[in-house]
Amino acid sequence: MKILIVEDEEALAKGLKFNFEQEGFEVEMAGDGQSALSLFDTADPPFDLLILDLMLPGMSGYETCREIRKRDQFVAVLVLSARTLSEDRTMAFDCGADQYMSKPFALPELISRVRSLLERRRVMRPAEAAADVDAQPSKVSIGDNVQVDFDRFEVTVGDETTELTRMEMQLLRYFIEHADRVLSRAQIMGDVWADSGAMSNRSIDNFVMRLRRLIEPNPSEPRHIVSVRGTGYRFVASPDQDAGGDVESSTDDPADEATA
Ligand code: CA
Repeated sequence: MKILIVEDEEALAKGLKFNFEQEGFEVEMAGDGQSALSLFDTADPPFDLLILDLMLPGMSGYETCREIRKRDQFVAVLVLSARTLSEDRTMAFDCGADQYMSKPFALPELISRVRSLLERRRVMRPAEAAADVDAQPSKVSIGDNVQVDFDRFEVTVGDETTELTRMEMQLLRYFIEHADRVLSRAQIMGDVWADSGAMSNRSIDNFVMRLRRLIEPNPSEPRHIVSVRGTGYRFVASPDQDAGGDVESSTDDPADEATA
């Protein structure tokens, strides 16, 4: 597994490099965003994960993250920053980061987060998944009218195609892979977004609302992403064949049911 450390504080970068090499990783360092991108573009084999500082000389960490995401939707990005405001976290996630850790940090926690990100990335990356017998196909249908393309991050309804963000796609994929099961918000948060500190129940509900607007024939009466009162959600691929259950099928304002 190959890691790129993007950090202008050289002592820190070298310390991280040393420690991750001890853990068996291959590690390269970049002191700014531009050289990170050059290394990223020429890496062979490609990097599996970036540890990215936000305050860098020249191009910011946010901008670097956006550029990386234009090139690769699946490489894992862990932001490691002295910035502790929740806006910084939110912005980092908006730029495509998978995880956010504040400095100062505990090395064992960083290493364990890197490992769990890489594990999840292995599950998410379609090219690798294709070689796996148990892999999900890269395209699935929801009901009669909705096609999801995991590789292209696209949802097509009738003849209209919409591009999803990485996080929307992760959530939709999670629902599809866990169809017909009641999923609590805590479970969704833990499984889809490892860094749950940045996600509130409300943000999950907001993601759900966006997905519903895309895939539900009538978003105010959802039939695919169904609310389960007091708990969370249940995904139903074919509502007409669904036996039902303890679901709330009336209007669906998350405010009714937010328990936290
Ligand atoms: Ca810095």
